[in-house]
This record gives sequence, structure tokens and C-alpha cells, in this order.
Amino acid sequence: MALPGIRRNPVCRAFAGAAAALAALAAPAANAQGISLLRDAEIEQFLEDYTHPILEVADIPPSSIEILIVNDASFNAFAGGRYIGVNTGLINFAETPNEIEAVLAHEVGHLKARHSVRAQDAAAAASAPMLLGLLLAAGAIAAGAPDAGIGLLGLGQTVGTANFLKYSRSQESTADQLSITFLDNVGHSSKGALEIWSRVRNSQIITGRRVNPYLQTHPLANARLSALQTRAEASPYFEKGDSPEEIHRLRLIQAKIKGFLHDPNRTLREFPLSDQSEPAHYARSVAYYRYSDIDNALKAVRILTDAHPENPYYHELEGQILFEYGRAAEAVEPHRNSIALIPDNALFRINLGRALLSAGGPEQLKEAEKELKRATILERDNSFAWFELARVYGAQGNEPLANLATAESRYQAGAKPDANHFARRAMPGLNRGSPEWRQAADIILATQPEGAEASLPQGVEESQPQPLPPQPEAEKDATPDVPDPVIVIDGGTR
Ligand SMILES: [Zn+2]
Repeated sequence: MALPGIRRNPVCRAFAGAAAALAALAAPAANAQGISLLRDAEIEQFLEDYTHPILEVADIPPSSIEILIVNDASFNAFAGGRYIGVNTGLINFAETPNEIEAVLAHEVGHLKARHSVRAQDAAAAASAPMLLGLLLAAGAIAAGAPDAGIGLLGLGQTVGTANFLKYSRSQESTADQLSITFLDNVGHSSKGALEIWSRVRNSQIITGRRVNPYLQTHPLANARLSALQTRAEASPYFEKGDSPEEIHRLRLIQAKIKGFLHDPNRTLREFPLSDQSEPAHYARSVAYYRYSDIDNALKAVRILTDAHPENPYYHELEGQILFEYGRAAEAVEPHRNSIALIPDNALFRINLGRALLSAGGPEQLKEAEKELKRATILERDNSFAWFELARVYGAQGNEPLANLATAESRYQAGAKPDANHFARRAMPGLNRGSPEWRQAADIILATQPEGAEASLPQGVEESQPQPLPPQPEAEKDATPDVPDPVIVIDGGTR
């Protein structure tokens, strides 16, 4: 994760998907102008495990929705286009998974009802195009392209993801009612909704802090709460709470978030050595790691891997600690352990690929190539995976494939001119008609500047005058475009 102070590599992407113990794709949210998104296999899995069943009963294909983890300590969530975003602050605020699930179900309710968001005031209305940019940026970042995302965000002064947007009261009620229907159909309680929203409201009343962003976007009238209560209590699942295992899982995630995002001093105070619980070891390991106290960081995480070898994320953290402190060869085994437990996680494959690449040696490079290729199959739009794959090809002395992977990386990052440039450089060295050649040709054609006639690099055309490869539209699945979420402001339909 992009942590000021311990970051070894100036390229934040170096942490994208990195051993994932929380890999921040974007620069630390040191300013209030943009959002920073995190990639973390464990938190993503947690959120997906609760969201996917809800999407299914809502008749929304889970694969069509991407869940974003927003590095922001305030309590907020949003939905729009093909995204559901959840702030780390919301995850930390929740006392039970059911509370988070309730918010997720509510957001799915907005998606299901195709609610368009209204700009909250005239100033916000004026900045409506900024929201489009913001969601586009979110898309680019989700696709593993923090640089492009930050660039887009730099276009405007934004205060938060959707803080200036507002649903109407009737839309809120609809989303509430839908959320209870969804949770009923999944067989889960809606009690979490009552609990978390009451607490949010009370905490605000008590502390008198500035208006909570979630409440700005989700007006929480008394009438709304009581309507919610009536329906929630009528559910046969109302008293069906989370299992101790589910609550434990949330505590681990919260400990991890605190470890990575809070000041390490604060984390060590909250989890003193006297606390020998699993979450405490987890949080301390990360806090030590951020203090560059690698011995204690490893000691803490190895208590966890020894006691719970079945938990892939502990191995992942051990690998990340070793890797980030220059012990790449030692990081290989922990990363292999995490993959053995969850083979189809792109972030895990990237971790292992990077460790192998740094460890050097022709054998390691070959395996790194295999791992990173697998990652690009699992997440085709992961710009960072392509970037690392390009480094592997570079280390192998394979310039054409290095250029091609760089082109793909830039393409997925939304940097079309760069993508075009590198694809053109790659082409002459690729076998005409090979899948790689076609991949390069597709990128070139898909990234032609507006108005320019599609053409392949001159050298290629002159020496081998053959017809152009198929238009990218014909192989849309092979080269998906940068995500293009659409959200309509002020009425209308999506
Ligand atoms: Zn809402």
C-alpha cells in the first residue's frame, strides 16, 4: 500500500496488488482533492462475499459490478454506473458484518432502481461533469491505472466521491425497502441497517461534528428510520445475527485497515502487547512493518502463519514484508503459500511474479512470466500486471514483447497515445499474424488519434503490404476499452 515513509518505490503502482496486504493504487490521500482507492484481496473478498448474493437476488450480474475500496476515514458509501464504493471509514465504523451488508444492500437498491443522483445545489450542478470525470477516474483506477486516475482527478477540485450528490427522500425509501427485500431473499437480517444508521446519527448528534458525508447523500429522516424498522422487524431473519466466525473476519479486516492506515503509534496503543488476539498480532505486524521494524513485523506475522496456515492473507503479508525490505527470494515461498490457498487471485499472482522477478535468474524469470500472464488473464484490465510483465520481458531481453506489454499497460491505464507509441514499437519485432501481432495491431487501431486514418506502423506496411487486422470492435472481449461508467445527473435514465 502506498504508505508515506516506508515506500521504497516512487511509483505507487509498485504497491498495486502488491502482496496485497492492502495495496493502495493511488497516492496517499494526503489531500482532500481526490479519492484514493485501495486494492486488497482480503477486503475485496469480504465485500464481494456479502455483495454478490445481494446482486444475484436483485437480478444484477455480480460480474457487472465492481466494488471499490476508498481510502477515506469518513463514513461513506456510494453506487453509480457499474461501481459500488465503500470507504475504509465505514468498514471500521461497523460493529458487525451485517451492518456493512445492510449498507451494501441499500446501495444495490439504488442501482436496481436506477436512481439518478441529483446535484445537491447549484454549485454542485455546475460541477456535474466533474462527477463524470470522477467516476471515470474511479474506473481507470479500478483497472489498475492510478496515474491516469490521479490525472483525471487533477482536473477539478473534488471534495469526495459523491458528497455533493443527493438522492431524494423517496429514492432513499425505495432503496431501503429494496434492501430489506434483498436481505430477506438472501436469508439475512436487516437489523444491521437500523443499528448502523442509528449509530451514525447519534454519533453526529453527540459530537456535533461536521455533517457526515453519508448523511448528506443519504438523508436519514425519522420517518425513514421508522419505516425501515417496521419492515426489518417483520422479517423472519431479524434476529439472525452474524456468526462468531463472521464477526472475527471483520475484526481482522479492521485490524489490517488500522495497521495500514492509522498512525503506527496509535495502532500500537490500540493493540498493546498484552493483547494476544489474532487481530492484535495482525495490526501490530503491519504497524511494525511501517516502522521499518522488520524483525518484530515478521515475528508477529509468523505467529499468525504458524497458528493459521490456512489463512492466505497472513502468508501474503509475510511475503509483502519480506519483499518490500529487499528479501525478494525469501518472499517467494510465502507468496506461493497464499496462491496454494487461493489460486485464482490476480493480486496474489502479481505478488509472486514480482518476487520472482526481483529474485533474478532465468528460471525465476520464466516463472515470473507465467505468473504475470496468469494475472493478466484473471484481470485483463490490470494495468499494473501488464507493467510488471513488461519488466519481465525486458529482463529476458525480449524487447518486442516488453513493448507490447507496456502498450497494453498504458492502454489499460487509459493512456492512449503511449499505448499507440509502444504498440508501434513492438510490431516490427512480432511475427505477422501471431496473437501478439494482432494484439499490437488492435491497440494501434483502438488508439488512433481522432480523425486520423487507422494505419499500422509504416515500416510494417511497406515491407509487408497486407490487409489491416480486424477492427477492435470485432474482438471487443479481447481488448476491453477503459471502463466508461455513465451516470446521469438531474433525472433521465442510465
Ligand atoms: Zn441511499
